[in-house]
Amino acid sequence: MSGIVRQDKLYIGGEWVDPIDGDVVPTIDPSTGEPWAEVAFGGPKDIDRAVAAAKEAFEGPWRRMPVTERAALLRRFAEIYTRRTEELIQLEARDSGRAIREVRGDVGNHANWFYWFASLADKMGGRTIPFDESVHIFTTRQPVGVVGGITPWNVPLLSTVWKLAPALAAGCTFVHKPAEQTPFTAFELARMGEEAGLPPGVLNTVPGYGPTTGAHLVGHRDVDKISFTGEGRTAAEIQRAGAGSLKRYSFELGGKSPHILFEDCDLEQALNAATGSAFVVCGQSCALGSRLYVHRSIYGRVAEEIARRAGTIRVGNAMDANTQMGPQSSIAQLEKTLSYIDIGKQEGATLLAGGSRIEELGKGYYVRPTVFADVTSDMRIAREEIFGPVVSLIPFDTEEEVIALANNTRYGLAAGLWTRDSARAHRVAARIDAGIVWVNTYRFIRWSTPYGGFKGSGVGRENGVEAMDAYLETKTTVISTTGAFADPYAI
Ligand code: NAD
Repeated sequence: MSGIVRQDKLYIGGEWVDPIDGDVVPTIDPSTGEPWAEVAFGGPKDIDRAVAAAKEAFEGPWRRMPVTERAALLRRFAEIYTRRTEELIQLEARDSGRAIREVRGDVGNHANWFYWFASLADKMGGRTIPFDESVHIFTTRQPVGVVGGITPWNVPLLSTVWKLAPALAAGCTFVHKPAEQTPFTAFELARMGEEAGLPPGVLNTVPGYGPTTGAHLVGHRDVDKISFTGEGRTAAEIQRAGAGSLKRYSFELGGKSPHILFEDCDLEQALNAATGSAFVVCGQSCALGSRLYVHRSIYGRVAEEIARRAGTIRVGNAMDANTQMGPQSSIAQLEKTLSYIDIGKQEGATLLAGGSRIEELGKGYYVRPTVFADVTSDMRIAREEIFGPVVSLIPFDTEEEVIALANNTRYGLAAGLWTRDSARAHRVAARIDAGIVWVNTYRFIRWSTPYGGFKGSGVGRENGVEAMDAYLETKTTVISTTGAFADPYAI
């Protein structure tokens, strides 16, 4: 791809339109530090248009459409996604800086979300509630309405697909506000929806800045639900901003996940997982195993081997098929990671590998895979989400101790543990406060596996049948079989 690619229209109400109060903004290729595309950003007035279109589509064709037709449209979406996979991989790697070989493994699976949620569309029934002969009581599930989907820059397509597929399957309409750093592939989702034949207004795409365009979406009175993935601080702002309108919220937030290596683990497999889960997405994944707890009897060997492996990771341009780890997604993220590396050094952790920017790779935002040993639980690098390729090694002696250490965090998204003792695996997994616990594996996530956080890592679940709950209301209907009004609570 050469020259600047231009995507200067927003997608609203089934049409490609100029921004009213937005702009056309360059988007940077993090591998080179240079602009590679110019993209339409919307402002509050564009959000107003998009929400109006989504509301009209919800009241009109979408919620009234037979559910089997809605499911057929989602399957059509999946077919188009499959056909366009290679193109999407190229665009996603370019815009986000994530290594293309990794993006290939991820984006190649996305169509499954649309197929799987299409198959759930007609299965979200209610239930009947026994009482007595005078009444028939039943529940039905109805779509929440207009959803504002606000997504982050680390895995732009994935985080949107996780929301869009269940929201549409449930019968909601969607206004998407992608992250300002990685807006490009959101338009490709819009194009696929258009080609699939989604009625106008069912999916609307308005990139823009969080504090203005995003905040306006959150505060909009015709938006019934906000489905957000991003930082906890932003989630708190969203809750405050939306407080007046009593919206529904789902929050997928950050993590500082414990990854525990017991002394009886399959060390080779555990090392593969420990290295992979520390440096995947260049360390910009919410489920990183960024706190690596290692039993003291194997700690020295693990530290040496993780440091050796970190030093052999091929860091480079995301578009190069040989690259194992790309750059950080933005200059701001690069600076944040480097500042945490400084903090780790000042806190007295031992730097075993990495620890600096890779200057010889030019203007791209490259950091060396970084390993700190002798980290203690009170250090900031062990407590705070860095969102960069930095792993902290912490030794432990007993099972009780490591469970306490693992849970000593405000986060609770994910955890991993490695042991050959199945009783211990069950015992420890049951006591760790996390939305997902992986035993002798890591980062196994599928369309069917509920995913989300305990504690400060979020509210609600994505994926699995549970994801549908986020986009459905329960209605209870009570029908008198006698026609006689008898209110037991009447005064
Ligand atoms: P962020 O919170 O800065 O931004 C996320 C989105 O919110 C962007 O689209 C941004 O424009 C928008 N936004 C910012 N301020 C806003 C406001 N006041 N009102 C409305 N919208 C606003 O997060 P980020 O830096 O893009 O993403 C990184 C974070 O996301 C990390 O903490 C990471 O752990 C988390 N994350 C979590 C998951 C998960 O599934 N749990 C997945 C990916 C990323």
